Amino acid sequence: MDFNFTPAEEAFRQEVRDFIAEHNPPKEGRDKPEVIAAWHRALVEKKWIGFAWPKETGGGGGSVIEQFILKEEMGAAEAPGLGTDFMGLQWVGPAVIRHGTDAQKERFLPDLLNCKSIWCTGYSEPDTGSDLASIKTRAIRDGDEYVVTGQKIWTTLAHKAEWIFMIVRTESTDRYGGTTCILIDMKSAGIEVSPIPNLIDVHSFNQVFFNEVRVPVENRLGNEGEGWKVVMGALANERSGISEATGMLQQLEALKNLARKSSCGGRTALEDPTVRRQIARFECRISAMRLNGMRHLTSQLQGKPPSSETSLNKWLRGPLEIEMSDIAMGLLGSEAAESGKWQRDSLNFHGTVIGGGTPNIQRNIISERILGLPKD
Ligand SMILES: Cc1cc2nc3c(=O)[nH]c(=O)nc-3n(C[C@H](O)[C@H](O)[C@H](O)COP(=O)(O)OP(=O)(O)OC[C@H]3O[C@@H](n4cnc5c(N)ncnc54)[C@H](O)[C@@H]3O)c2cc1C
Repeated sequence: MDFNFTPAEEAFRQEVRDFIAEHNPPKEGRDKPEVIAAWHRALVEKKWIGFAWPKETGGGGGSVIEQFILKEEMGAAEAPGLGTDFMGLQWVGPAVIRHGTDAQKERFLPDLLNCKSIWCTGYSEPDTGSDLASIKTRAIRDGDEYVVTGQKIWTTLAHKAEWIFMIVRTESTDRYGGTTCILIDMKSAGIEVSPIPNLIDVHSFNQVFFNEVRVPVENRLGNEGEGWKVVMGALANERSGISEATGMLQQLEALKNLARKSSCGGRTALEDPTVRRQIARFECRISAMRLNGMRHLTSQLQGKPPSSETSLNKWLRGPLEIEMSDIAMGLLGSEAAESGKWQRDSLNFHGTVIGGGTPNIQRNIISERILGLPKD
């Protein structure tokens, strides 16, 4: 692992900073669609959406290190997102690039890169979460189509998405080898989406019912029976997104600002030794996440696909976020009940811990696949 950036990488960092100085919209104007559209147009022109995707797929052909720098600088400047379709860009697009046919690449990648699509992800079912191989939603081949019947749950954004990236059962006796990945148009006949309000009464989750939905065979991603391989790669990409340290650094800055404004024993909370120690510990844990992220980058630079290592940061992030929001709520004292951001975060962070796989599941992955301990 080499912690130094080359002169070319430092020059790229400066290019990103210059871009941000020119285009980053002021926070007050960001709710206007035309402001965000202008930001995305500038990013598309630079090819900084899907920047690390190969040029022949329409991406920017950037190195993984440049992608890291891009995200780090964007995060530090609290710039709006790199594109609109988080799931599409973080794992559906990479899965299509890796496993898709030429026709699938032509059909799906341009919309992703031009902020024109919204994807959702259909893994979990009422009796299936951590043990994903126990899915029951089945897809039965009928000529040139699959007929899909079953139910998915906790499907984030299904009420807005145009497409769903799904794992289905195509064969009943083989737990892993009987699964297949399939891409379904959410407008297909037989799909019903039913909302599930979350803890803070926001509608992000859904149940999705599939009643004999007919899906062309050409929408299968990868071979029949290879769903497990496709989805494990996608999950590693999801976890690497969840585990980026950049967002955590922003949270830490917000916490420091709160401590600066809060009083504690006649001085600011930031001057209080106990609060300082807590903040310093958070800073050390975030630095460890950043270094883990760089280790993961190193293995990607060596041409290895996303691996179980992404579970390390996914596992570190959950408790860190919850502890940070607990400290913030403590600093706010009686104001905590009314304070928007920290109150919302302190409830929402419990979801981040579970989404993409619970801490126990990350522990199992770390112990079995990284440490080589016996299977669960
Ligand atoms: C914010 C958020 C967004 C989500 N978005 C989506 C989405 O878009 N699409 C989607 O498909 N799903 C989504 N999910 C669902 C999520 O993937 C599942 O909730 C998660 O995988 C856990 O599954 P479960 O809820 O069925 O819990 P279970 O699997 O029933 O787990 C219950 C408890 O048992 C523990 N446990 C289970 N198995 C083991 C084991 N082998 N060893 C030790 N402990 C174990 C777990 O750690 C957990 O504490 C989302 C969830 C959240 C919170």
